[in-house]
Amino acid sequence: MKRECSIVRDLLPLYVEGMVSEETADFVGEHLAACQLCQEEYQHLKQPTDLGQPPQEERPAAPLRLLKRKLVGKRVQTALLAGVFVAVVLLSAFAILSTPRYFPYTGDLLEVTPQADGSVSITLNERVTNYSVFAVPATQANAGRMEYYIEGWTSVWEQWFSHRGAQTMTLPPRGNAAVAVYYAQNNGQEDVLLYGDQTGGGVVTLPGLVLGYYLFLAMAVFVVLLVVWLVVRKKPQVRQWVERALLLPPSYAVGHIIVLGFTTKSYSTTRDFILIVAIGVLLYCLLLLAGSAFHLWREWKSTR
Ligand SMILES: [Zn+2]
Repeated sequence: MKRECSIVRDLLPLYVEGMVSEETADFVGEHLAACQLCQEEYQHLKQPTDLGQPPQEERPAAPLRLLKRKLVGKRVQTALLAGVFVAVVLLSAFAILSTPRYFPYTGDLLEVTPQADGSVSITLNERVTNYSVFAVPATQANAGRMEYYIEGWTSVWEQWFSHRGAQTMTLPPRGNAAVAVYYAQNNGQEDVLLYGDQTGGGVVTLPGLVLGYYLFLAMAVFVVLLVVWLVVRKKPQVRQWVERALLLPPSYAVGHIIVLGFTTKSYSTTRDFILIVAIGVLLYCLLLLAGSAFHLWREWKSTR
């Protein structure tokens, strides 16, 4: 057998599976066209069900095909893992940088200007990049006044990118109810009356506690799942699903810590909840992917 034949014979199993480079394929193809013996060997390999073949040689390239599929799967998984990891880092960074920092009341924080039509204009200092207003309609409880609660905040993110300048809002009266305007400090201290008559005692704007309940709920679900896991741990089919579900509550809890830190009080519950869920879901995907990558790696190691 010529030297080139020997090389081609070695390459043939890969060639049949289409697992060689274009250049190698050209080389083998040219040789096959010119060499009768190798051509015969090639035809032989192409039809693995030929009579008289011992069973263990029936499909010589099958393990190679499996290996190739696994390698592709592994590459896809690594790419996904990296992508999700980057997404977790970016979203966490955004959550931390955009955390609202509420301004406590100071004399230079805002200017109050009553208008002739009974409405009140408020101009915020330009360091207040964001504000919101809650309107509480006139009822018996608030002495028939149209109450407004303003809160002003900024964030590291907005200090970098937002230059809105001083913002002005106009708070109109409703019907013949007098306007009262409060500044909500969101730090546990009393709201400050900016305009209108003082009535009764002070008001403290309270933080939302619902995120604390959600965190508690996540912990409860985790404990229940742990008990279920103990019960079904001998049944691998069910156990696998329980183990996947077990990762959900801790993912949520870590999302909570990233967004809120070690507190459950929030003055912006909707924003915080959306971010916690988004980061939690991404973390969960990351854990699942890492888990199956670990499995694949162990399997790969055991075949060596
Ligand atoms: Zn040959």
